[in-house]
Amino acid sequence: MKKFNLHNLVRPNIRNLQPYRCARDDFDSGILLDANENSFGSLIASDLDLNRYPDPYQNKLRDGVAAFRGLQQQQVFLGSGSDEAIDLIIRVFCEPGKDAVLITPPTYGMYKVSASINDNPVIQVPLSPQFQLRTRDILQKVTPSTKVIFLCSPNNPTANLLDREDMKEILANFGGIVVIDEAYIDFSGKDTMVSDLNAYPNLIVLQTFSKAFGMAGTRLGIALASPEIIRVLFKIKAPYNVNKLTARAGLQALDRLGEMRRTVAEILAERTRLAERLETLAGIKKIFPTDANFILIRVDHALDTYTQLAGRGVIVRYRGDQVHCEETLRITVGTPEENDALIRNLKEILS
Ligand code: PMP
Repeated sequence: MKKFNLHNLVRPNIRNLQPYRCARDDFDSGILLDANENSFGSLIASDLDLNRYPDPYQNKLRDGVAAFRGLQQQQVFLGSGSDEAIDLIIRVFCEPGKDAVLITPPTYGMYKVSASINDNPVIQVPLSPQFQLRTRDILQKVTPSTKVIFLCSPNNPTANLLDREDMKEILANFGGIVVIDEAYIDFSGKDTMVSDLNAYPNLIVLQTFSKAFGMAGTRLGIALASPEIIRVLFKIKAPYNVNKLTARAGLQALDRLGEMRRTVAEILAERTRLAERLETLAGIKKIFPTDANFILIRVDHALDTYTQLAGRGVIVRYRGDQVHCEETLRITVGTPEENDALIRNLKEILS
């Protein structure tokens, strides 16, 4: 097992940072004349007291997420989507203009975008043609300045889970941070990697309320890691990064896990039906296996098909410009009616 030293891995300026102290760090009740809020109230009447800043620590919601995943509150970071966590992780560990992140294309686009915004070089080690990790290549490509590896399982846009043993091999043999993005894990029927958090101090698991919970509009993302890593993320986050409306929605969602699981089951049933219907269409060369709420297909003239579908008001994602994804479209599983409309239009376009 490669040595992991969190202290040395954190950028020195972050290590030495004196974080912003919120007014509410010292007192949170009484006659609150400490935060320049509007004491006369909010324009919108609400029992949430929207004139007051939210809890910077989101303790209640973090308790809820921790209970849901069988963890402790101190292992939970919440942000404005997992996109915020991606950005913060890069900024904690990667010196701009110097340190590198490693990604495994084809994969989610924000890892590269966030790294580029922070001026961090991006090392790319493509997945195999079967969309699995090439672990030996990854570990060979790592340099002393490679600080973060992003893995995505189930992977976007290919929809498949990465092999768990491969991910563990990277966790064990890389001395930096390994982020495993599990945005789609609840569609996979497989266990999350959070049970490995104790074994691997360099692991950060990303999850989100945007997919299985159906709450993309609230912007609520999750990073799960050791209490030490979570503490560093807290150090640099904007003080009030999860607002009160979002926090309430998150708590309500966690109270409806049964409903979430029923919806996931419906989406999976609909995914099977969609895949079966796609199979019958001429012009579709391949339907890739999926562990997520979307399907990657290979189709004749993918870009043209995409454009024609859009012209008919059915919007899918063209992914043919990504490695190993020539002539592909990524299709989110819709409602039965939406999927019927997709099939009807695809059939006409491809015939
Ligand atoms: N990770 C992956 C793999 C995604 O596909 C997405 C969204 N498409 C995200 C993270 C971002 O999700 P969020 O809404 O939590 O920012």
